[in-house]
Amino acid sequence: MNTPDTVRHLIDRVPALVWRVTSDGCGDYFNERWHAFTGLPSGPCDVRKWQAAIHPADVEDLRGLLASPGGGTTEVRIRNTAGGYCWFVVKCGPHVGEDDARAMHHVVALELDSERRPGEDGKDVSNGVPVPWENVPTMAWSTRADGYLDYANERWLECCDLTLEQARGWGWRAGVHPDDREGITATWLRLLETGEEGYHEARIGSEAIGWRWCVSKASPARDASGRIVRWYGALFDISDRKLAEDALRRSEAYLEDAQRLSHTGSFGLDPQTGTLYWSEESYRIFEYPRSVTPALALVIARTHPDDLGLVERSLGRANVQDEEIDVSFRLLMPDGRLKHVRILAHRALGEDGARTLVGAVVDATAARQSEERLHRTHAELAHVTRVATMGELAASIVHEVNQPLAAIVTNGGACLRWLDRPEPDLAEAALSVERMVADARHASDIVRQLRAFASKKTPASMPVDVNAVIRETLPLIGMGQFRKGIVLELQLAEKLPAVLADRVQLQQVLINLISNAAQSVGEQSRDAATVPIGIESALTADGAVSVTVRDSGPGFPPDIARRVFEPFFTTKPDGMGMGLSICRSIIEAHGGRIHACNNDGPGAQVGFVLPAHDPAQSEASAC
Ligand code: ADP
Repeated sequence: MNTPDTVRHLIDRVPALVWRVTSDGCGDYFNERWHAFTGLPSGPCDVRKWQAAIHPADVEDLRGLLASPGGGTTEVRIRNTAGGYCWFVVKCGPHVGEDDARAMHHVVALELDSERRPGEDGKDVSNGVPVPWENVPTMAWSTRADGYLDYANERWLECCDLTLEQARGWGWRAGVHPDDREGITATWLRLLETGEEGYHEARIGSEAIGWRWCVSKASPARDASGRIVRWYGALFDISDRKLAEDALRRSEAYLEDAQRLSHTGSFGLDPQTGTLYWSEESYRIFEYPRSVTPALALVIARTHPDDLGLVERSLGRANVQDEEIDVSFRLLMPDGRLKHVRILAHRALGEDGARTLVGAVVDATAARQSEERLHRTHAELAHVTRVATMGELAASIVHEVNQPLAAIVTNGGACLRWLDRPEPDLAEAALSVERMVADARHASDIVRQLRAFASKKTPASMPVDVNAVIRETLPLIGMGQFRKGIVLELQLAEKLPAVLADRVQLQQVLINLISNAAQSVGEQSRDAATVPIGIESALTADGAVSVTVRDSGPGFPPDIARRVFEPFFTTKPDGMGMGLSICRSIIEAHGGRIHACNNDGPGAQVGFVLPAHDPAQSEASAC
């Protein structure tokens, strides 16, 4: 079989473009396929002429390969007779024969996408230049018309770890990985039956030398009447590409798993074509079947009607001002379920220089639900401790309500006396009645406050004036239960901004801090006539509102201030140790912070800072 003529015939029929490049870059041999595919003259030509068929963007790649003495593999686009480009795997190998000292490299190009294939015309366009087949850097084979393999070159046999004797006929199947044997056989039988050109990817080799992923291409050669006379084939090693594809597939699978675990989908928007891409998790979050084409309209369709404006505004800003998107909103599912999502996106520079909108969509529903559950638990705990506090404060509450009631009785008696005269003094009687009304109001105010304090309403934040809350709280505490002589010194800053808070919870914090301060000074010697407790409100340097309760008691023992906010931490024999821990959770739930430390002088101070209410911001985060 291996006479020069047969070899030339084989090279011309092999379903690949084959040419030879000399040391000066000229082409001195082109096979028939090259000529038929590119339409370029087949005779020896200079470098400029044959490289005209290579896509300008790929020329550098190919030149690099030709400049390397060992050759190599790359992918380039080659222009066909119709002027279109097709992708080829190009393999370049050094010339090893001694027949032509100028010859440098043999090049074989295998089409990756063989939609279009120039027809065979049977002409010999090799210009009579002898090309040793074994020099061609590819693995080639040939069969009879009935598919019986009767030729394979050395490279092919080496790759399959077979001798020609073993490969002959259908023996070549031993060189195919057992898992791929059935597939490649089925493809080969189909080609033999249809007479079509085709290819198949399979692992080639043996257990001893290992398996390499290869693509095997087969093409029939016909006689003048169109009858298939032989089959010619080539094998290309695509292991590197396969490895890269596998690595890519693996990293995509990991990414998908990570997205599912973190409930975070991704998306990309091509601004030029308007094409939107969604990851699997994005489909799951928006609950659309994989068959729908992603579109902005689908996101809008799922958006809760009350949040539509918010979403459209941030999308608009991102479009016009190139701003980053960070928006949290609700989705309303067709079955009425609510979902909380957050979208983060920015414009990223793509490889082609286009600015693509790339982003993540986070399903925060579960997190939001546990946050709400935690919130409810906090509120319930706060309520329980409020009721407990009321029990502790019962004595002072009775005292506070008793005082106006006693005053009413006194004023009622006086009124009766003014009326019981022979000449009733109506003016004095009216004055007594006015005092009675004022006292009754005072008593009813205290009862109303107490009822609100003990109520189990869901906390509701609204803009409140901290100074007003401090003033309302004082009658609830009453100092009767603590040692005599305690005086509350208020130092309230004027014109404080409002804070967004639940009034009752804020009162609860103040009652805790003032009670602790009063208990602390109560432990001191009772000799001092008056003991002040300072309650101070102020505007901080960064515009927040601070409240501090200062006493002149023994202060915190060393290392205690750090622990006082821990649940159940108490130094009192009958203490529960929950007061300050509840205060901390209330203040933190309001976006503030609480602190405790000793004064510069004697005593301790415990205070909190709450952010000022910003109406603009609360509108933006309404959802
Ligand atoms: P309880 O009052 O039931 O002990 P708290 O959580 O209110 O629970 O307080 C925890 C601890 O913090 C108190 O037991 C006390 O040791 C300390 N503490 C709180 N306020 C003061 C204060 N003003 N002066 C000194 N120690 C204080």
